Amino acid sequence: MTLLGWFELGGFVVGLLFGSFLNVCISRLPEHESVVQPRSRCGECGHPIRWYDNVPVLSWVLLRAKCRDCAKRISWRYPVVELAVAIWFAATAERLREFVSANSSFPSFADVAGLAVIGFLLIGLMVMDWRTQRLPDAFTLPGIAIGFALTCVQAWFLAPGEGDIALNPTHQLRMNSPGSFQARGNVFVTGPEAMVLGRVGAIVGAALILLVIRWTYKALRGQQGMGLGDVKLLAMIAAFLGFGGSLMALGVGVMTAAIYAVALLAMRRATAKTKLPFGSFLAAGGLFAAMWGQRAVEWYVNLWR
Ligand SMILES: [Zn+2]
Repeated sequence: MTLLGWFELGGFVVGLLFGSFLNVCISRLPEHESVVQPRSRCGECGHPIRWYDNVPVLSWVLLRAKCRDCAKRISWRYPVVELAVAIWFAATAERLREFVSANSSFPSFADVAGLAVIGFLLIGLMVMDWRTQRLPDAFTLPGIAIGFALTCVQAWFLAPGEGDIALNPTHQLRMNSPGSFQARGNVFVTGPEAMVLGRVGAIVGAALILLVIRWTYKALRGQQGMGLGDVKLLAMIAAFLGFGGSLMALGVGVMTAAIYAVALLAMRRATAKTKLPFGSFLAAGGLFAAMWGQRAVEWYVNLWR
């Protein structure tokens, strides 16, 4: 195997381990239980799970999806979540290899770290909202903090003058000392300021979009249509991907939710009053925007050329 393959394989194995931990989070966080204590037990007979029965994916297959002690079925959710995180991390490792071979510096590394973290969080939130209609603060709020912190790291490592927003660009200022640069125009906001303040604006803006929809729905229908969890989830996506990324996530989320709803109605499996786990679709949109957002935009722009 080449170096290329080892990178992805490493990501895959690390992803399996994180997926295993994510399963614990998915089972316990919506019930406000600790993810550290106690050790994992069978939900039916309460027997602690032996370490060799706790190997990601493999144990589920070897046990043929049954508890060793009471033969109660183990949900297929466990291996699927483990595989999903493993595949996500393998794809992230591929990005990391691209950055390493492109000789990129630390900011891109922060990008790759962000991709891994947002994948872990969004896969978890997607499953939790689907199962319990809950989007735990224990995921969304630290998610907002991590996404914002990574943006600050990227801002810190901007080159001099990079990303500056200048007024009056005809006015040029050249400094001739070591480490200086040529400024084009009067710098209104420096690159790091623009990046950090822009991200704060993106987080607040994304939250406001859903808050306005929530208030409007409440005013028109007299009942709550959207939870605050969805608001925090979109703010989290904005913290990692910026405002454009959060808009794409929202668009993809609304579209897939609508297709799903129409399919349910057509099959008479739902009525107009059925509640959809919108957060799951929003999280799926976020995953799409995080991994393929840039490529989707490029594809779309080229389409109109
Ligand atoms: Zn059991």
